Amino acid sequence: MSIKFSDLPIIPEIQSALKSLDYLTPTPIQAQSIPPLLEGRDLLGCAQTGTGKTAAFAIPLLQKIQQVGKYATPYQPLGLIVAPTRELVVQIAENMSAIGQNIKFRQTTIYGGVGQRPQVTALAKGVHVVIATPGRLLDLIDQEYCSLSKLQYFVLDEADRMLDMGFMPDIQKIVRLLPRNRQSVFLSATMPAPIEKLASSLLHNHATVMVTPPSRTADRVKQTVMFVDRSDKRKLLDRLLSESSRTRVLVFMRTKHGADRLYKSLVDSGISAEGIHGGRSQNARQRVLNLFRDGEIRVLIATDVASRGIDIDEISHVINYDVPLEAEAYVHRIGRTARAGASGESITLCDGDELKYLREIEKTIGMPIPIDREHPFHSIDAADDELNQYSSMVKTKRPRTTKRGNGNTEKSSRHKSTESTKDRADSGAATQRRRSISGKLRKIKPRSTSHTKKSFSNRSRPKSKKR
Ligand code: AMP
Repeated sequence: MSIKFSDLPIIPEIQSALKSLDYLTPTPIQAQSIPPLLEGRDLLGCAQTGTGKTAAFAIPLLQKIQQVGKYATPYQPLGLIVAPTRELVVQIAENMSAIGQNIKFRQTTIYGGVGQRPQVTALAKGVHVVIATPGRLLDLIDQEYCSLSKLQYFVLDEADRMLDMGFMPDIQKIVRLLPRNRQSVFLSATMPAPIEKLASSLLHNHATVMVTPPSRTADRVKQTVMFVDRSDKRKLLDRLLSESSRTRVLVFMRTKHGADRLYKSLVDSGISAEGIHGGRSQNARQRVLNLFRDGEIRVLIATDVASRGIDIDEISHVINYDVPLEAEAYVHRIGRTARAGASGESITLCDGDELKYLREIEKTIGMPIPIDREHPFHSIDAADDELNQYSSMVKTKRPRTTKRGNGNTEKSSRHKSTESTKDRADSGAATQRRRSISGKLRKIKPRSTSHTKKSFSNRSRPKSKKR
């Protein structure tokens, strides 16, 4: 029998808020994390967005604030949540407000790219909780607008993403500023070695909760790949968008210029679309997200950085217009659909130059992504190359032709159907065309590091204290 929120020692003020939000049953991470956190223990959670991790740490924090019953002290928050992006910070704050709707508490968000004045004003008035990205938080700490000396509850969210984005030095600085006596929550979708090391330095006698292993994120997402020449991608996208069942579509592109161009040309062709990327102001991003959430626009074009915090239910389809260069980004992208237990679909448009990245993704998620050939732009070249690459990866030695049960000899499996890479690898055509691949492989660009490395010393800081 599954447990209910009412089975957990959660105070009535929060229970009623959860009811009003239609949160009836705790998700696995909530069911496993809330009891130890309410007991005051530290927590290591291996989970990603979509699992309900926000409420898992927000409920105990809000309960603590209610029970402590303290006025917020100027400049000295009681709780701190650090997250990698502005969108995620805003989303966490929204979640906190919703869950804490019956609790008297004050919080502020802190992130860069906007003026610091409102953030400083909020800190000066006193807030119970600060939800922040690392860079601006350190700036304000440096200017003595924020002190962590009275902190009781610290949450580090999406730690692996912090590492990816070059925030590790900032995080280490923040950790050094934490008081000894505090409760810590450490959340990460994956646990690479530096993250594990950081977690063990931060946590004491912690409970560990692992929900879906990172590579399994997408179990609920129906994934397909379509092989298409780059020059045909736009036409294929139009065709995909012409289907009315694709009600709320998130399209990913690697670059902000690409995202801008694409959304403008979609709008020109009469499709209700918008774009969101790191180059747009925070207000513009939030406005676009709200329009998308409210169903005012049907198609949202996003880059990876901007997508991180997109928490919108009922995204029917994720379309990867570009194959992401990193497998992790793929997992995060497709995780934008199939949220909160729903199902969803992802379609990846892959040209010949992107095969290498597709293969990396398949290795990471531990399964081949089925090919959809049922479209008029199917690129035989890309599909054949893919077949060759995969077959050499699994070192399949097959004869040039495949004997079928009826004794007929077939040349290749280039028929119109959806099949998995395993099927592709098993096809005789794999070996048949292996030789031609070496030339194509040379065309593949080296992996670029798209992360923004943020150097602490580069940030501008006023010399004098302003308080
Ligand atoms: P998160 O992983 O925290 O980003 O949450 C993913 C989505 O699940 C959000 O839209 C939440 O509002 C929703 N959610 C979280 N917990 C529950 C729950 N217990 N029942 C229903 N929805 C939930």
